[in-house]
Amino acid sequence: MSLEKVDILGVKVNSLTMTEAVETIEGFIENRGNALIATANAEMIMRATYDDELKTILNSADLVVPDGAGTVWAAGYLGYPMPERVAGYDLAQELMKAAPERGQKIYFFGSAPGVAESAKAKAEEWYPGINIVGTRNGFFKPEDEAEIIADIKNADPDILLVALGVPKQEKWLYAHKQELNVPVSIGVGGSFDVMAGVMQRAPLWMQKAKLEWLFRGLKQPSRIGRLMALPKFVIEVMKSK
Ligand code: UDP
Repeated sequence: MSLEKVDILGVKVNSLTMTEAVETIEGFIENRGNALIATANAEMIMRATYDDELKTILNSADLVVPDGAGTVWAAGYLGYPMPERVAGYDLAQELMKAAPERGQKIYFFGSAPGVAESAKAKAEEWYPGINIVGTRNGFFKPEDEAEIIADIKNADPDILLVALGVPKQEKWLYAHKQELNVPVSIGVGGSFDVMAGVMQRAPLWMQKAKLEWLFRGLKQPSRIGRLMALPKFVIEVMKSK
């Protein structure tokens, strides 16, 4: 499958459907490399405009899916319409749904203490037969890193889901990718929080109305400042055309 990429403010984002994203990732798992997958929403792309390290990581990632209405809008506005949004949360669920049949092992790293364990319990309830081979919370000191890496390597997952927030999860994965040698690693932001019920996803009508960003902003008032990235993103995309 040839994957087309669209340059949005210097970040090259793959133009593809959820089905194609899942197929591509299954291919990475079969190839046994160490692929890094990022889910690019407007906020992440905006950050990459002033965080060169993040931009380099995203542009060297094996797959960058268009997470969020802003990313899909930008591609269309720039003249490269994308088939659909591929939200990180949904992508992780699709991979987990397919994992039992494929005999794949998954590791959950990140979020506050207890959250990854609750997310694991939910995954076991939702996807019977799923094999979550390890969990580790995302609040650690530099001196804990060696032990975390050893635990992941020892568990030998096919898929590593990392929820440390942007850009920490992307930088951590990039720095340790060779050593971890996991076929597929994905930064999944607040996904374990949503699975565990600590945080709610926007109702479907709001997702369809492309208002998920507004829902997140209202639910977590501390994020209101972060919402400003959206109008800035729209202005920058318009200027870049
Ligand atoms: N998180 C973590 N370690 C940290 C900072 C954050 O494990 O040092 C977790 C946090 O508990 C949350 C997740 O990272 O579960 C994602 O945070 P956020 O919702 O801010 O994600 P973003 O929108 O940046 O992807």
